[in-house]
Amino acid sequence: MGLARWESDCYRVMARAVIVTNAGQFESQLRIGSLPAVADNPCNLLQEHTMLDSQRCWQAVCARDATEDDNFVFAVHSTGIYCRPSCPARRPLAKNISYFADAASAESAGFRPCQRCAPHGKSPAALLDELVAAACRLLQDSPEPLTLAQLSTRIGVSASHLTRAFKTRIGMTPRAWSLAQAQTGPTLRAGKGAGLHLRYAISACALGFLLLATTDKGICALLFADNPAALESELAGRFPAAQRRVDQHGLGAMLQQVLAQLQEPARAAQLPLDLQGTAFQQRVWQALQRIPAGETRNYGQLAAELDSHPRAVASACARNPVGLLVPCHRVIAGNGALSGYRWGLQRKAALLRAEAGNSAVLADQADGLASLP
Ligand SMILES: [Zn+2]
Repeated sequence: MGLARWESDCYRVMARAVIVTNAGQFESQLRIGSLPAVADNPCNLLQEHTMLDSQRCWQAVCARDATEDDNFVFAVHSTGIYCRPSCPARRPLAKNISYFADAASAESAGFRPCQRCAPHGKSPAALLDELVAAACRLLQDSPEPLTLAQLSTRIGVSASHLTRAFKTRIGMTPRAWSLAQAQTGPTLRAGKGAGLHLRYAISACALGFLLLATTDKGICALLFADNPAALESELAGRFPAAQRRVDQHGLGAMLQQVLAQLQEPARAAQLPLDLQGTAFQQRVWQALQRIPAGETRNYGQLAAELDSHPRAVASACARNPVGLLVPCHRVIAGNGALSGYRWGLQRKAALLRAEAGNSAVLADQADGLASLP
């Protein structure tokens, strides 16, 4: 069964699950633990700050890119109908299309929702998120370990549906997720960096400003923004429970290495990393570090390498806290489009341009990057 068909089945199953949720049997909350949620999609964040980019949207429409489903809809002038990017229907000519940030905007411009992709409800991806989130919450809150059969009965879907939903959204089975949660350190489970002491430094750079933060083990965040205040608020958002203090002087040497790599990609920074994430996220981030500078992979290739699903990989990429050194900028869409980037597509394009220009030199550096902890 094709993914699209399966997802449309899930859509129906999920609609049922959501009704159960509303009946109050369990809490439907999108953000549970480290579960990747729709809001983590880098494109969503991007969209808050930028107008819709029609070229990027057109590429997503041509690729039927489901990861863009929550970011925009497209409306067809000749039919008066609007669709999700992933709609299986035949593609109209680009000149007949308008893009809208959401269903409400398309409807207020006079377009009707497509019957096939139902773009006015929650996307299949969002419904999958809700189902998986509800299941994760049950697993987390249960005093005793739940079997798959018990879990699926309580959720109200079949065991096989539940397993596939997990594999699609977070790249592992419910059981593997439970085990990974149990193995995750207490600081992370307590949430958001509780117990961590972070030092950080901020510097201007070619991409605006960057913030480098470390624990006592290594770099735990490397963020980009247009101004220092935005950086500090992103750090606080990622590690709200951690103690954070500025240490511009103590981190000066690390900062210099990062700035050097930005200016000259061949000089790959050799710095210890302390990546805070789930077992699956760690696997994805390690795979990212194996992509040599000057090269790119698409989400499908990485998913195949990790025996996962492109959307699960995309979510883990979007959660990557250490830009540049864990090079999520080297992952692009299957059709070659840049796709999303947590810190903005312009920065992604600039990083890739710089690395492509130095690819011959950079090939020698790839081993160094891959061997970072
Ligand atoms: Zn449609």
